Amino acid sequence: MNERTYILEGLCCPRCAAKIEKHVGALEGVSRALVDFSVQKLTIEAENPERWDDIVARTGVVIKRLEPSIEMRDAVLFPAGAGAASVPAPVKRWRRVSLALGMALFVLGMVLEYIPSLTLPSFARLAVFLAAYLLVGGEVLVTAVKNSTKGEIFDENFLMGIATIGAFAIGEYPEGAAVMIFYRIGEAFQDYAVGRSRKSISALMDIRPDYANLKTASGLKRVSPETVRIGDLIVVKPGEKIPLDGVVSDGFSALDTSALTGESLPRDVEKGSAVLSGSINKNGLLTIEVSRVFGESTVSKILNLVQNAGSKKSVTENFITKFARYYTPVVVFSAAALALLPPLLIPGASFSEWINRALVFLVVSCPCALVISIPLSFFGGIGGASRNGILIKGSNYLEALTNVDTVVFDKTGTLTRGVFSVSSIVPAKGITKEELLYYAALAESDSNHPIALSIRNACKRELDTALISGYEEIAGKGVSVRIGNDQVLAGNAKLLEAGNISVPAVEETGTAVHLAVNNEYAGYIVISDELKADSKDAVDDLRAIGVKRIVMLTGDSKAVGESMAKQIGLDMVYTELLPHQKVEYLEVLEKTKSGSGKLIFVGDGINDAPVLARSDVGIAMGGVGSDAAIEAADVVLMTDEPSKISGAIRIARKTRNIVWQNIVFALSVKGAILVMGALGLATMWEAVFGDVGVALIAVFNAMRVLKTARAV
Ligand code: ADP
Ligand code: MG
Repeated sequence: MNERTYILEGLCCPRCAAKIEKHVGALEGVSRALVDFSVQKLTIEAENPERWDDIVARTGVVIKRLEPSIEMRDAVLFPAGAGAASVPAPVKRWRRVSLALGMALFVLGMVLEYIPSLTLPSFARLAVFLAAYLLVGGEVLVTAVKNSTKGEIFDENFLMGIATIGAFAIGEYPEGAAVMIFYRIGEAFQDYAVGRSRKSISALMDIRPDYANLKTASGLKRVSPETVRIGDLIVVKPGEKIPLDGVVSDGFSALDTSALTGESLPRDVEKGSAVLSGSINKNGLLTIEVSRVFGESTVSKILNLVQNAGSKKSVTENFITKFARYYTPVVVFSAAALALLPPLLIPGASFSEWINRALVFLVVSCPCALVISIPLSFFGGIGGASRNGILIKGSNYLEALTNVDTVVFDKTGTLTRGVFSVSSIVPAKGITKEELLYYAALAESDSNHPIALSIRNACKRELDTALISGYEEIAGKGVSVRIGNDQVLAGNAKLLEAGNISVPAVEETGTAVHLAVNNEYAGYIVISDELKADSKDAVDDLRAIGVKRIVMLTGDSKAVGESMAKQIGLDMVYTELLPHQKVEYLEVLEKTKSGSGKLIFVGDGINDAPVLARSDVGIAMGGVGSDAAIEAADVVLMTDEPSKISGAIRIARKTRNIVWQNIVFALSVKGAILVMGALGLATMWEAVFGDVGVALIAVFNAMRVLKTARAV
């Protein structure tokens, strides 16, 4: 593997994240490094996988040098207690004590300041405030010096250090000390809020099992799920999480699958039922035969997907990263200009007055509010959606879902249940109904198409699959196969006509599967599918939230396609399409959509992977965890319900609104403080609010995403 992921425990400032990303990315042998601040995660891509040990060792060294308090460890998917910064206890205690002592001294200084009869000699006044300042800000100053020797000049500590030292230099002692105190308190609150947010998002996805009860010759053994192998038997007691995917081999119970699907009704399982990891066993005792190792089980797939979603960043996040890169230097240079130019150019202007104004600039020069809160909002949106059974593979897709112009549906398995019932069997001369059905079922025995499954289900005879050879599936048409010595075709009229076999017209509504044996027509089977219970609601709801065109593309016949489209009220329907024609029609729809609106394609992942890939956002029916769909799509609906699409759009819009509220709020407050600071109307007191206060409010606002995500 060329890519590895590590957790950076204790990572709590976005600027450190950017720093680490830059320095690790520049290491020899590393082609790319990416730090996701919101989940404290470092992803490294190596040029040469053979050199991993070396790369990891050097990465560790770099991180220790940049941020000694950060621990780098192997990524475990959402470990319990994620988000808590791991600062050693004595350091924590010293921080608290020094802050308290510093604040006490500061208060003392302020009280002395306001007792009119008492005028301290100026050196005593300086001593009190300076002592308070050093107690509170000593660590900030030390870090600032350390980092600036490493070439990090726009480091937040450094800028705060200069701003406050500047205040002391021009005789504003109380301001200097106060700014440092508020900065420290603000930072502490911010760390706490970010930690809390990470925790509550992780809690939403609390589906990771901690252990499995493995059945061994000597009784039950509690083991880590990673060590369990396919075919092992595990026991799940009431109240426990199912740790691995498998099949119930003994017992019955009701499962709570809400963490996977958002569905609150329990699902009954008994001997023979397939069960998915991440569901919770509600009442019975279950013995399960494991069918997939932990790494391939549903929980791992979901957690991986959600955790990696951060690496596909939205346009807004990329914009903010870029913005942050320029914002700080621009503000710092403006501060320098403000401190120097007016006193030199304007007669009578004093340096101390203008330096004072310039210090305000330095204090608001960190874009922290945005850098922290925006990735956090997107992460919250993705986490909340996953709780509803909607897996979104990246912030970019969440963002694309805010503005949907056209929704294109596949039919079979998407709008319809994909469970066909046989409504009639019409054999040609010389063959019985039973034989026709048996041949059809044999021919379809290797196909995963919903039609094939249904025909196999309808045939009650045991299938002798040893007879089959030369199986070939012709996408969008059907199958061709040898059964014993007979060449058999099973599929739609197109398939048979391509082999010059004429096909009678079928009056009955439904999907006709025609059969030919050795190039002779053998009859047809009519099967029909039902609409999913929520298909009509899904379409109505999409229209209600402003989707302009709702379209269906299907490989099925005109009669079937059009009657379904009418029942659920679609705007357009295109029928009898082969898979590549679905792509062509999608491209036409893409060209005719309005403006910047996005085009979504919704399919079941069978025969429509190219269309899923081609659309702006490809949404697949996950059939609770089906591999093909999870691979091909950008968004996966775990419950196969098309009505979840409007839910996804709602979460996306809410996330966007909150992100923009934060952008507008943070930039306008900072902008106002910059202008007022330049005019001499804002002091460093306002500026410190513009820095940590705004960041804190933005983080709290970001957490509102989770509330909506719970409500859809
Ligand atoms: P949809 O667009 O409705 O999802 P597909 O593109 O998967 O449909 O298939 C289109 C048509 O091709 C089906 O309606 C059926 O007539 C035929 N077909 C595809 N696969 C099979 C199969 N395995 N057996 C029989 N017919 C098939
Ligand atoms: Mg299909």
